[in-house]
Amino acid sequence: MIRASSPRIRCARCLRLTRRDNAVHGFGRDCAARLGLIAPVPRVRAAPQDGPDLFDAAAEAPPGPLSATEAA
Ligand SMILES: [Zn+2]
Repeated sequence: MIRASSPRIRCARCLRLTRRDNAVHGFGRDCAARLGLIAPVPRVRAAPQDGPDLFDAAAEAPPGPLSATEAA
């Protein structure tokens, strides 16, 4: 059985070897994202919580028909 490794090309920008199936127009994925060829995956960072959150609001709210205490 022949095990063909994935063909590799050199990124046109940084010259690092990258898998051909991961390349975008001859660039590696990181360089393609830097060049705006593909959308970079955003890193979501939430702002620190300031003040009461939804858990506080739920604790203060009167129990409704769908409250967790009735469901248990
Ligand atoms: Zn590159």
